[in-house]
Amino acid sequence: MAGYPLLLDLTARSVVVAGGGDVATRRVRALVAAGADVLVVAPQIAEEIVALEVRAERRPFTGSDLDGAWLAVAATDDAGANATVAAAAEARGVFCVRADDAAAGSARTPAVLERDGLTVAVNGGDDPRRAVAVRNAISTALDLGQVPTRRQRPAAEGSVALVGGGPGDPELITVRGRRLVAEADVVIVDRLAPRALLDELPDGVELIDSGKAAHRHNLTQEQINELLVDKAREGKRVVRLKGGDPFVFGRGGEEWLACVAAGVPVTVVPGITSALAGPAAAGIPITHRGVAADFTVVSGHLDPGRPAEEVIDWPHFAPGKGTLVILMGMERLGAIAAELIKYGRAADTPAAVVHRATLDGQRVVRARLDEIAEVVAAEGIGAPAVTVVGDVVEVLASRP
Ligand code: SAH
Repeated sequence: MAGYPLLLDLTARSVVVAGGGDVATRRVRALVAAGADVLVVAPQIAEEIVALEVRAERRPFTGSDLDGAWLAVAATDDAGANATVAAAAEARGVFCVRADDAAAGSARTPAVLERDGLTVAVNGGDDPRRAVAVRNAISTALDLGQVPTRRQRPAAEGSVALVGGGPGDPELITVRGRRLVAEADVVIVDRLAPRALLDELPDGVELIDSGKAAHRHNLTQEQINELLVDKAREGKRVVRLKGGDPFVFGRGGEEWLACVAAGVPVTVVPGITSALAGPAAAGIPITHRGVAADFTVVSGHLDPGRPAEEVIDWPHFAPGKGTLVILMGMERLGAIAAELIKYGRAADTPAAVVHRATLDGQRVVRARLDEIAEVVAAEGIGAPAVTVVGDVVEVLASRP
């Protein structure tokens, strides 16, 4: 069939659907969404259709049902009945879609995608799977910002998105995060953000590396805050791309407050924190039925011996069976382990250190809590790494 694509305005126009099962239900739902005046005719009609508040008549189809109709949908499970509908439609000059045999109808239902006022309709040469596959691929490309469909922005209003990039594997960022990165004018990136994504940035995108290494701050937090605000005020779409989740030891809250104080629109896109991705990448479920029913994520950055109100309350976290996940703990791992044991965690509790989780060069080291620091030192493992303490470390037999 040569075919002639059209987008129909079915608002308040009569459409007749013959059939009352699953396929009919899907078609009726879409027709109702399009505003059509739908009559459903079939001996049996699913409750879902009735719930859509269309006219539903439980009886066989007759040709006169199509009098005054603009479109017919033959969606019964009986090819003979569908052929009858198609013939009645043909006789009245009404287009008919056949659900069972597209080529035998006079119209086709494409695989459709609607987004932001954009409609994409795909016909796969009457191969519905092909149409759906192509439609889905376009949908993904739109989600990822790979298709320049965005309507032109009116007078540029700058904004800041604090985007969690996930633990490092570029596939572990959210769909929204990835799209915002693709649409950004300026990307300000952290050391632990998924840098592989930066290779995809179009020319002309300004890339600023805030390169935060433990003791080598290229930019201070105040400078980063100022930069976010300044770039947004220039009308730029600014993405602050961070490792893991922006609000988990990411200073995202401070950046948020700086934007709000400056009157700059700011959003946050959550990311998969390394506190969760690290254990997962090592095959460690951080909760497990009968083993651990809670977990605590702590920063190991502060010296456990430090007498300040900032100090981590190790006596509180140490006892019990809950899983402990320690970020930024590599420099003080021995002291942290000693503190945990001192306050009641068994010395032989299983522990694991996951280095460069989800990235090339990922390494996992396991040992008893009282030996983990020594083993890690002997293996020469440093930051970035997540430490997991608890019986969950040993719970899965197969280890990656
Ligand atoms: N916002 C980040 C955490 C930033 S603090 C998040 O949600 O993941 C930095 C610490 O995160 C590092 O010291 C390390 O403990 C941990 N970390 C981040 N990425 C990591 C990775 N790929 N593998 C192991 N640990 C990681």
